[in-house]
Amino acid sequence: MSVLSQRDPEIAAIIADERVRQVETLEMIASENYASAAVLEATGSVFTNKYAEGYPGKRYYAGNQHSDRLENAAIDRAKALFGMAHANVQPSSGAEANMAAYFATIQPGDTVMGLNLDQGGHLTHGSPVNFSGRLYNFVPYTVDRESEALDLAAIRRQALECKPKLIVAGYTAYPRKIDFAGFKEVAKEAGALLMVDMSHIAGLIAAGEHMSPRDYADIITTTTHKTLRGPRGGMILTTEEWAEAVDKAVFPGTQGGPHLHTIAGKAVAFGEAATPEFKAYARKIVENAAALADALQSGGLRLVSGGTDNHLILADCNSVGISGLKAQNALQGAGIITNKNTIPYDTRSPFVGSGLRLGTPALTSRGMGADEMKRVAAWILRVLKDPDGDGVRETVRKEVAEFARPFPVPGITDAD
Ligand SMILES: *Cc1c(COP(=O)(O)O)cnc(C)c1O
Repeated sequence: MSVLSQRDPEIAAIIADERVRQVETLEMIASENYASAAVLEATGSVFTNKYAEGYPGKRYYAGNQHSDRLENAAIDRAKALFGMAHANVQPSSGAEANMAAYFATIQPGDTVMGLNLDQGGHLTHGSPVNFSGRLYNFVPYTVDRESEALDLAAIRRQALECKPKLIVAGYTAYPRKIDFAGFKEVAKEAGALLMVDMSHIAGLIAAGEHMSPRDYADIITTTTHKTLRGPRGGMILTTEEWAEAVDKAVFPGTQGGPHLHTIAGKAVAFGEAATPEFKAYARKIVENAAALADALQSGGLRLVSGGTDNHLILADCNSVGISGLKAQNALQGAGIITNKNTIPYDTRSPFVGSGLRLGTPALTSRGMGADEMKRVAAWILRVLKDPDGDGVRETVRKEVAEFARPFPVPGITDAD
């Protein structure tokens, strides 16, 4: 019996239920993944006890000799992994990384260009209910109506017109490659800085499965828990020029004490992401997404932009006559966990949405391959074509649980 289950059976039982849920369902939310047992161990370490406001060698409290070693290791590994001159590993989340990045580079009221939120941009890229939309003058760019892909020529025209201080590239629901070199050209011509928010694709970039923003971005922000497979957290990478401003914007600008236990997990994840095994893993994520996309399209589901180049798929549920919300709920009943999403030029409200976002990072972490993706696609199609069929959902849920169990979830050995 664990210490937790003895001391606090209520919370221990909730955690045990969550383990079973993670083992018995198919996790297809594109922003989720399973951290390794080593990452979980580091993140659950005694570093949760320590205050370390400041940076290595410049702390506000005593007793930080090991905190300094830890944070320096995380910084060195991050710089090596992404080839940038400076790394700040303290942001507690992607949103906080973005806040600090804006604080470091622009002033309230400045004009910023980011992708329209309904088309794959993030809340922190100018939503009116988010600090970003309240503090800065965000001018949204869009994807092309026909191709449903980014159109750099149109973005260039818009940038030359609205003269932004900053252009943000990097998205939450965009299934195609992003041309960072092209964005840099546009930013240069418009006199803007280029910020790349690589939250979703950081793992693919680390593994060489997507163009790196290294030679093009002035500032790069990311989460550490999506394709990168680290603990829940954020990070900022910059050129030497922005190093000092970014460090000040994180602490004392927007955060207090860094979460050292999470930084320990980040360091372990950066180490893992530098291995040949991770390279193979990232390649498999992309191959699996392609296999899943093919099978779904053959089954009559329309995919936004006609397919995928990365780890995610955006399906247009109108093609099977239902909303994204209905699709999400029907699939959840069948043990397949996804999220509804708007699609470009959606006519439904964001609370309902016409789209369904599907990702392969988590299933790939369980060791699934292209054959498994074909089976998963068949289940998804079966449920989406009969979303009100209780019998279908129940049958698929049982089949899914049985199918999923033999694929071990990293970090979970005792979900019985
Ligand atoms: C996930 C995500 C974020 C926010 O990360 P949190 O850790 O949830 O705050 C920011 N930008 C993009 C593009 C994302 O995909």
